[in-house]
Amino acid sequence: MRAGLYIHFPFCLKKCLYCDFNSTAWSGAELDGYVELLLREMELRQEALPEPVQAPTLYLGGGTPSLMVPELVGRLIEQAALRFGLEQGAEVTLEANPGTLTPERLAGYRAAGVNRLSLGIQSFEERLLERLGRAHSVPQALAAFDQARRAGFDNISIDLMHSLPGQTLEDWRAALAQGIALAPEHVSAYALSIEEGTPFEKLYQGGELVLPGEEEAARMFETTAELLTGAGYLHYEISNFGRPGRFSRHNQSYWSRQSYLGFGSGAHSFWNPDGLGRRWNNAADLDDYRTALAAGLLPERDEVQLSLQDAVAESFFLGLRVLSGLDLAPIKACFGEDALAGQLAEVERLQQAGLLVADGGRIRLADSSVIIANSIFSRFL
Ligand code: SF4
Repeated sequence: MRAGLYIHFPFCLKKCLYCDFNSTAWSGAELDGYVELLLREMELRQEALPEPVQAPTLYLGGGTPSLMVPELVGRLIEQAALRFGLEQGAEVTLEANPGTLTPERLAGYRAAGVNRLSLGIQSFEERLLERLGRAHSVPQALAAFDQARRAGFDNISIDLMHSLPGQTLEDWRAALAQGIALAPEHVSAYALSIEEGTPFEKLYQGGELVLPGEEEAARMFETTAELLTGAGYLHYEISNFGRPGRFSRHNQSYWSRQSYLGFGSGAHSFWNPDGLGRRWNNAADLDDYRTALAAGLLPERDEVQLSLQDAVAESFFLGLRVLSGLDLAPIKACFGEDALAGQLAEVERLQQAGLLVADGGRIRLADSSVIIANSIFSRFL
């Protein structure tokens, strides 16, 4: 059975003001204890699996996994390989905050087996980084990128954010130009969204956070694709751009409903041996996560066995995220044509409205509807 591996690291230097991810500010305490929990979870998971796993990808995300020293990252990669069989040439990604990196640390990660770096640069303007509450500066981001290249990383992704408070379209154009000038292999470009329970939500509700208007935000989205594709990047998913052959293999497996196993507090998993699949989350609370493992139990919560209807719906709304579109033939072969009747009728309606395009057995978003993708996906729920 092939399954990607995801390891969640729930600590950050500090909490960004917009962030609702499962992460907390790191107290400076030893991180070995958390790594021991991850290793224990891998052991229990291996014992519980009905069959051995071969992993084409391993993704260390968070949070800020680059708070871990290379030795700890190395232990995790080694154990993942031992217990689940990392395939030859597997993509091993580490998310990194530029403020945590040094040349030695980067060289250590490379030596430990990390071959893809995802750098959370977000902005090339100091005032915007401060506004976001980020824990790094622009010089740190530029130095981290340069040091990563020197350490031998030839597959680097950078994250950039637009629609930020006080950001103009010209600011965003300049940020994209700076990003392109670095020549990363991959760019993830996201609009800021105001999430429930974050400091930004409070400020926004109180009228203290002035965001670009809807039209300007739309222009930023369009400009992203225009500048990045103009620079030779392929726009392969709504927010993701890559050089040919440098798309995120790990994230692509999410959109094609391939199995993945998540480790760490709050990590999600999907096990799909039959086309329908089973999803579950790990306990998000660190104490609950620790307690379950100490009792020799997997920290699984909220397990859902997907129904035929759920699985078909997922195949459409996840598959359509990929801009080359979803291939209908394997979906029909998996679920049977009758099971797709509702979705195909919806495709027909959206096609007539010019929002979807059918192309040689594939269905994809029309270029003009990428910006309203979420409202299209909701039609398949
Ligand atoms: S570094 Fe990432 S995960 Fe951590 S608080 Fe900031 S946005 Fe959230």
